[in-house]
Amino acid sequence: GTAGAEAVLAGLDEQQRAAAEAVRGPVCILAGAGTGKTRTITHRIAYGVHLGEFVPEQVLAVTFTARAAGELRGRLSALGVGGVQARTFHAAAMRQLRYFAPRVLGGPMPELIENKLRVVAGAATANRLTTDRTSLRDLASEIEWAKTTLATPEDYPARAAAAAREAPFDPSAVAAVYRSYEEAKSRDGSLDFEDLLLVTAYAIEEHPDVAREVRAQYRHFVVDEYQDVNPLQQRLLDAWLGGRAEVCVVGDPNQTIYSFTGADPEYLLGFADRYGDAEVVKLERDYRSTPQVVGLANKLIGQAPPRKGLPGLRLLGQRAEGPAPRFVEHPDEPAEAAAVAKACRELIDGGLPASEIAVLFRINAQSQVYESALADVGVPYVLKGGERFFERPEIREAVLLLRGAAAGGNDPGALVPAVRDVLASTGWVEHRPPPGGTARDRWQSLAALVDLAVDLVAEQPTLDLAGFVAHLAERANAQHAPTVQGVTLASMHAAKGLEWDAVFVVGLVDGVVPIAQSQSRPEAVEEERRLLYVAVTRAREQLTLSWSLARNPGGRRSRPRSRFLDGLAPDAAAAPRRATPRAKVVLEGEAGELFERLRAWRSSTAQEASVPAYVVFTDATLQAIAEARPSSVRELSALPGVGARKLDMYG
Ligand code: ATP
Ligand code: MG
Repeated sequence: GTAGAEAVLAGLDEQQRAAAEAVRGPVCILAGAGTGKTRTITHRIAYGVHLGEFVPEQVLAVTFTARAAGELRGRLSALGVGGVQARTFHAAAMRQLRYFAPRVLGGPMPELIENKLRVVAGAATANRLTTDRTSLRDLASEIEWAKTTLATPEDYPARAAAAAREAPFDPSAVAAVYRSYEEAKSRDGSLDFEDLLLVTAYAIEEHPDVAREVRAQYRHFVVDEYQDVNPLQQRLLDAWLGGRAEVCVVGDPNQTIYSFTGADPEYLLGFADRYGDAEVVKLERDYRSTPQVVGLANKLIGQAPPRKGLPGLRLLGQRAEGPAPRFVEHPDEPAEAAAVAKACRELIDGGLPASEIAVLFRINAQSQVYESALADVGVPYVLKGGERFFERPEIREAVLLLRGAAAGGNDPGALVPAVRDVLASTGWVEHRPPPGGTARDRWQSLAALVDLAVDLVAEQPTLDLAGFVAHLAERANAQHAPTVQGVTLASMHAAKGLEWDAVFVVGLVDGVVPIAQSQSRPEAVEEERRLLYVAVTRAREQLTLSWSLARNPGGRRSRPRSRFLDGLAPDAAAAPRRATPRAKVVLEGEAGELFERLRAWRSSTAQEASVPAYVVFTDATLQAIAEARPSSVRELSALPGVGARKLDMYG
């Protein structure tokens, strides 16, 4: 009723309220990190439902991760609203396609390909290309990019050239692999993730009866993190809308971090042009972070070259003062990890729950050293925030066993010991987490089941095993993972939209942030800056930024600190950076001629204004060169201004 609706609005400020009250679309919220965009859409949906404008089941809220979808549902149910569909594009498409498959594909839902790289490898071989893991992964991401930007194999060469794509093979070869890959899938009758969206959009576009049904089911659309929408997702959204304007999008152009896979912030920035009558709301009050963190975020993004058409999105801190962000230099990576682990230990000992702490890094390979450092000091951790919780093998197994035990009879209010018994039968030993790695991760997620049982019993003392199993099934269905107690270890990408009291952004070395591959293209470097902006704006209270001079103990302490810290760190004079590499070549080919090609390339670039450069080798090439000419890597590095690195050092 209206009273409920008013109560929902009470939790919002004036501008947020304006966006929430505009329950009839089109609405666009354009605002920086932590300004309450996600909160506003949640409240807008709840308001619309309480007002009777929205039927919950007819609202489709699209988020970028399953975890975000689960969180949205959680927040909605706290506002007294159930039944809203909150899903990722993929999950929503999958559900619809499964239903419509017999009609549009003439059979059941096709299988999703299990091993994409294997299919790509087959397609590469069919085109007589020699590949290794790295070039296969690059080929797979080129195909993915092509599909998300709606480019066919025929379109690929021209589109790749226009977008200055760097692929491991020439564009016509990539296009050929793309074509063979598509053929292989249609032979098997299988789909990849992009096909899911493509086929669903196609089904709606080409089948009027399907379109009618889908559009009758979903009448109101909300898209979070809209700055990262890609043309394929936009096409699906347009298919769902079918010309209607009942859509609310929210996003922050400064957090665009998926351009390389086809995301395009122009959809967000151009929203008001596409819908002339759009209600455009800007938010600037930052409710998440202390003014200290907000100040740093503003400075970081303020140093980006101005982009045309981009509104100024400065953040105004709302919270009480907090500690100044810390900038810490370490001699090497294990020392950096040990210091972070020790700081986590101290925070936890001081009363901060481990789940309120995150360690964020640029590439997943950096996670390992933090895992062992945290294990060394006995701090529990969770990788990547524990999404896909219910798909983990240990959880599937545990749920099966719990279901079996529940069928065998119940002993109500003894729920917790029963859960413990079942888990113990899998070899899980309470209070004894294994020292590190995946075993630790597994232990932690099983522990989360016990914690959940404990929490539930506190609320419902009579809950039995059968009730617990039913509760788990509901959560699995809602992709609502229980809180896994532990420090979150996550990539900066995976941290999007989330927040923690204390955040450690680690490994801030130039060549990692910005990542080496980006350094020859200014727009790619800017994307790296935005990624760091996403990372620092995750912190509510405490923010620590760190880097280390050498990778390994005893190694040369020569790694320059991230260029993005210039002007942010108070000790800007310390740790002078080396000249920044501005060109790179990735080499593959016959060992015999490679060295000469390298030398020729180097001398041609060196002629123009001694551009500092580095050469990135794939493993296979490095080995081939080393065999053909053992001293060559050293000789190369001795060329003025050249650094030589192995590709996998950059993940
Ligand atoms: P991001 O760009 O990182 O996704 P966001 O704009 O979606 O951020 P939210 O996650 O919605 O921001 O909000 C950030 C934090 O501020 C949350 O903890 C939220 O509950 C809080 N918050 C937002 N608006 C208000 C408000 N009006 N009053 C109190 N707290 C608020
Ligand atoms: Mg958000």
